[in-house]
Amino acid sequence: MSDKQKYSPGVRKYIEQAKKILDQKKEQTDRVKKLKFDTIAVHGLYTPDEALSQNQGAVIEPLYLSTAQAYRDSDEMEAALAYLIPTWCYTRFANPTTTYLELVLALLEGYQTGSDTSCLVTASGMSALMLAVDSFLIKQKQGTEKINFVSSIQIYGGTFQHFSIRKMEERGIEVRWVEHQKDSEEWRAKIDENTRFLYSEAPSNPQQSFCDVKALADLAHSWEIPFIIDSTCATPALMRPIAYGADIVLHSLTKSITSGGLAMGGALISRKPIVTKIKNDNPLFKESFAEYVKFLPYRDTGPAAAPLNALFALNDLRTLRSKMDLVSQNSEKIAEYLSQHPRVYQVDYLGLESYHLHSLAKNYMKLVDSDDGKGNEINRYGHLLSFRVDGPPQNARHVFDTFKIILRAGDLGRIKSIATIPAISTHLQQGEEARAKADVPPQMIRLCVGAENPDDIIADIDQTLSSL
Ligand SMILES: *Cc1c(COP(=O)(O)O)cnc(C)c1O
Repeated sequence: MSDKQKYSPGVRKYIEQAKKILDQKKEQTDRVKKLKFDTIAVHGLYTPDEALSQNQGAVIEPLYLSTAQAYRDSDEMEAALAYLIPTWCYTRFANPTTTYLELVLALLEGYQTGSDTSCLVTASGMSALMLAVDSFLIKQKQGTEKINFVSSIQIYGGTFQHFSIRKMEERGIEVRWVEHQKDSEEWRAKIDENTRFLYSEAPSNPQQSFCDVKALADLAHSWEIPFIIDSTCATPALMRPIAYGADIVLHSLTKSITSGGLAMGGALISRKPIVTKIKNDNPLFKESFAEYVKFLPYRDTGPAAAPLNALFALNDLRTLRSKMDLVSQNSEKIAEYLSQHPRVYQVDYLGLESYHLHSLAKNYMKLVDSDDGKGNEINRYGHLLSFRVDGPPQNARHVFDTFKIILRAGDLGRIKSIATIPAISTHLQQGEEARAKADVPPQMIRLCVGAENPDDIIADIDQTLSSL
């Protein structure tokens, strides 16, 4: 049945009106897409016109705490609940404040990639991850296949737990771990016709591991499966994996994107369309995966983002590029200092020329819209690094315990410098064997460098190392 036969003239009137609004929105998006990264990050799609006509001139996007949306009449309600007109309906489904953030993130992650993108914002990084992978881990019609996916083992501790316990132990989905993710041949050897996707994290937390993003995207596509990448530590200011063929990009918004540290959040950004051989009756599954997840699995499972958190993220995001530039430069200085120190036997930082993955990361980690004077973008490697303290693990604990400015916390991505010992915190649950495989020894201190003057942070590290 066509819409004409199915819906009353009253409902059709709303659908017609919505078409006009959608056309205007598309025109506006096309206009904003032509702007530079910083301009998009600062304004997003919130225009002076919208501020004046709908929001009493408020300079900042409005915070809609309301749980639900009211409708003019039954016709509008029917059109809305059938998703025939733009609507947000109920904050578990969508929310206008959260939508501002989604639109900006889609544009920033798609910036100069040559692809259109869509974005879903969720309550946390973990819920974005869960929604992304679960959509591919469903049985197909015949239902007898033994499903697997291939993942780098050098990933966030929580993701490792999610894959190894929730997926492998509880559901019998096989996770095939890649130990050296830069080695594309190791990935190739682990894929078969029941592999549903490739999963990587780059740069990885905490090991600073990296992969050949383009090679993995090509490899995934040769099997007609998507390449999913957690790009939390890069942020779109330093790398946009979609430019190299990645299908789905995940972020913990809790980290560098909301560097002020006041909100949890996650984001799932997908290329339009993604590559997948999973059969799904909903055309959005392939054409606009993030929207598909938003309309269906997200709605049905409930990891809704809090609108206030979305506003915090949106507000911190505006200066993402300049902040990532600053903290990357601070990190380079601190990594150089650490690499010269006699009590430090290893420094893992992608920005160090001596680091074994430096030349690979160099191809990908570049400050957006920067210029080295010769027409090339400047390499910047983010603010996460780790170093290993000479001697028994107690030495690392001593150094850690005597920091005076650097905070001791499992957190990262902050405007403040924060350190942790991954083996006794973020990677505690993995167990010794998995930690060894992932190269997370108890001598390792992870440091996420903030926006302080780097000389003061170096002095803080220096006073503790010299007390050994
Ligand atoms: C923190 C983190 C996550 C999980 O995000 P939450 O917002 O804490 O749920 C996922 N990936 C990486 C790389 C992280 O650092």
